[in-house]
Amino acid sequence: MTESSRTKRAVIIGGGLGGLATGLRLQCAGWQTTVLEAGPTFGGKMNRWTSKGFTFDTGPSLITMPWAFEETFAAAGSSLAEHVNFHPLDPIAQYRFHDGTRFEYSSQVPTLLELLKRIAPNDVDAFFRFLHLGSRLFAVSKATFFRKTPFEPPVKADFPLLRHMPFRHAWGNYAKTVEALFESPYLRQLFLRYPTYVGSSPYLTPSTMLVVPYVEFAYGGYYVDGGLYKIVEGLLHLSRKHGVDLRTDSRVTRILKTNGRASGVELASGEQFHADVVISNGDSAALTELLGEGKPDMRHRSMSGLVFLFGIDKELPEIHPHTVMFSADYKREFSHIFDEQRFPDDPTVYVNVPSRTDRSLTPGQGETLFVMANAPGCDTVWSDKMISGARERVMQRLRHAGFPEFEGNIVTSDVFTPTRIAQRYLMPGGSIYGLDSHGWKNAFLRPGNANSRVPGLYHVGGSTHPGGGTPTVLMSAAITTRLILERESA
Ligand SMILES: Cc1cc2nc3c(=O)[nH]c(=O)nc-3n(C[C@H](O)[C@H](O)[C@H](O)COP(=O)(O)OP(=O)(O)OC[C@H]3O[C@@H](n4cnc5c(N)ncnc54)[C@H](O)[C@@H]3O)c2cc1C
Repeated sequence: MTESSRTKRAVIIGGGLGGLATGLRLQCAGWQTTVLEAGPTFGGKMNRWTSKGFTFDTGPSLITMPWAFEETFAAAGSSLAEHVNFHPLDPIAQYRFHDGTRFEYSSQVPTLLELLKRIAPNDVDAFFRFLHLGSRLFAVSKATFFRKTPFEPPVKADFPLLRHMPFRHAWGNYAKTVEALFESPYLRQLFLRYPTYVGSSPYLTPSTMLVVPYVEFAYGGYYVDGGLYKIVEGLLHLSRKHGVDLRTDSRVTRILKTNGRASGVELASGEQFHADVVISNGDSAALTELLGEGKPDMRHRSMSGLVFLFGIDKELPEIHPHTVMFSADYKREFSHIFDEQRFPDDPTVYVNVPSRTDRSLTPGQGETLFVMANAPGCDTVWSDKMISGARERVMQRLRHAGFPEFEGNIVTSDVFTPTRIAQRYLMPGGSIYGLDSHGWKNAFLRPGNANSRVPGLYHVGGSTHPGGGTPTVLMSAAITTRLILERESA
């Protein structure tokens, strides 16, 4: 199909995972799509940094629900396996607790049973109850929440699924449900961590979030050989092949309207692009500025992160590629982040060392370290003093957890603060997942895939339905594309 035979045009604001996937899907459905990315590279938060022979993913490090990726590549007439190799992780992670306890969390039932019998013998039955609850929530989500906008009425085929909905448990508080299920303080803290996958506090999210640990356990966690950015490269390769117009360094400053309908966009340079539909892949809170309606609403922002990237000349054979070092008091940590909106005194620290299993990320020796702690998503501007104070707290947690010293071995390093994340990806507060998922309304009624006020304006990505995290962003792209094809093809 040539560009001139394509009669419908879409312009996409942002070349993150959601923008790229939507552009590719629409292009393959016969539209002419243009993706305008403000930054110098595509991929948004799923990005890459290379220095002195070290290669780092600057955002995601663990993938779940691989079928969302398979479906995206298949929609472009290709296959995931042609472009990237998903590498299952087992054990998924090593957890280290404040009292010195540490263990590896496997998604293999026999291995996990051995662990449970050793560290939490009273919780073996609870673990199976937890899996059962998660599987019922997942059965409902997979066919409804993950495939449709929340505003689409259920069809006949959905009704039998609703029998899986554990209504009594679904609307409770996540932390209370976990604490009622498990006696072991280790299992409690381990499972309380999962709402952070959507930038939220376990003490404020609904129990339906139990679907997150269920999915990771049941379907596994994955790494991509060569780094997760290979996924973005695969999407870019297919986009170019199918003729998507891809432009970096193209910041959109205004959405154009004709008779109240979105009809194009204007760049900071003044250049205009006219289209039948406009799709925003940026943070939905930032849309008010593009529509000339004022500053973003900074309430209910999800967490941001403080990320240090270190290339070191020392090898760490004893370190699991995904290690989580928990704070002493989890509730206090989330109170610092959400109630006081400050970096916690004692942060839980996640260290990803992908070079443990992928030597292509190093210059031949050493390791690539991605060190991350949760931070509030707010307007605070991170000064050098704040960074060094927070870095000392992160290092203190690593030392306490027995992580090997490496400060004298750093060859190259970089740091992403919430301020830098906000500026680089144009996300208010540097909030990685848009709105938080606190309370059922924020968790389930996220900004929809079609704008409710401006016809012709659509949304895609982690700040919209069904939510953040790489697989859900790809599901969002599938929903948004379907809506556009249903509503706008005539
Ligand atoms: C540190 C970190 C760790 C993470 N870990 C994981 C993980 O392990 N697993 C996982 O699944 N997910 C993880 N995530 C989340 C995941 O990266 C995101 O949910 C996902 O990549 C978001 O994709 P998106 O399409 O919503 O948009 P984004 O990645 O936010 O991309 C949006 C793009 O739009 C551009 N843009 C915005 N406004 C404009 C404008 N006006 N004009 C032009 N361009 C514009 C931005 O520059 C950006 O490139 C992590 C994220 C971070 C930051």
